[in-house]
Amino acid sequence: MSLLVVGTVAFDALETPFGKRDKIIGGSATYFSLAATFFTQQANLVAVVGDDFEQSDIEMMQSRGIGTEGLQIKAGEKSFFWSGRYHEDMNTRDTLVTDLNVLADFDPQIPDSYQGCEYLMLGNLTPTVQMQVLDRLKERPKLVVMDTMNFWMEIAMDDLKKIMARVDVLSINDEEARQLSGEYSLVKAARAIMAMGPKFLIIKKGEHGALLFHGNEAFFAPALPLEEVFDPTGAGDSFAGGFLGYLAATGDTSFENMKRAVINGSAIASFCVEKFGPERLAELTKKELNNRIQEFVDLVQFDIDLD
Ligand code: AMP
Repeated sequence: MSLLVVGTVAFDALETPFGKRDKIIGGSATYFSLAATFFTQQANLVAVVGDDFEQSDIEMMQSRGIGTEGLQIKAGEKSFFWSGRYHEDMNTRDTLVTDLNVLADFDPQIPDSYQGCEYLMLGNLTPTVQMQVLDRLKERPKLVVMDTMNFWMEIAMDDLKKIMARVDVLSINDEEARQLSGEYSLVKAARAIMAMGPKFLIIKKGEHGALLFHGNEAFFAPALPLEEVFDPTGAGDSFAGGFLGYLAATGDTSFENMKRAVINGSAIASFCVEKFGPERLAELTKKELNNRIQEFVDLVQFDIDLD
């Protein structure tokens, strides 16, 4: 089992109804790998940062089992910066700033030690870079999962469609699924998107859970009703980290096991939203995670007698 993720490692500025942070570590690959290493011993990272990135943050990642050999540090350049503001309901947000900085000419390098990886996460990132990573792996991984967002649909739809045609699982939110397919019904959207390539589709619906589609089958996982949602940033990436981390740990990519993976992803995402940025994931214990997975089981289990 080996797991590789390409995505952003970033600085974020976040504003929610509960407060704000002007500069906090974020990025799709950061959340993904922090979540995945609760399931796998190691998650290898391919990403780029500027020299404004703190060595202590890199050490924090390494201490969690995140392989940083593929993390490029560009002297004299600035890291990718994203800023967002959440609405009162916390399900919707406005992007205020996206400064690509080092991402603008990112040329992803795959260390030799990463070759032969079995599980690949193409985290939210420039579609051409996602494509380059897949092209630069000498062997196609056993399972390729991909995430993206409206930003890339708006500026790079053609490239996005090319990479989508080559992945096994696409993980996006409901708004993105509608934008990508032009369909309002999520069932119709799922059919249209799977016709573009991915055999499996995950549609995340924030506090309303997540849907997993495959052929004519569908599975629904609720989100845990939480008393307080502090900051939803990174929930989608943490979900993907839990999902693929679990598949990599169990080595089983069947639809049945993906259902369990969706529950594991939902459980870890439910922690991510409890504090700002990746703060909660950084302090989370495996015991807390296991207790929460049990809460998910209890939430949806019921007996019914039919005559
Ligand atoms: P999520 O809340 O799961 O969508 O992920 C939020 C993270 O995605 C933040 O930490 C951002 O740094 C990162 N992000 C925001 N916009 C982009 C983008 N256009 N491409 C890649 N990563 C992004």
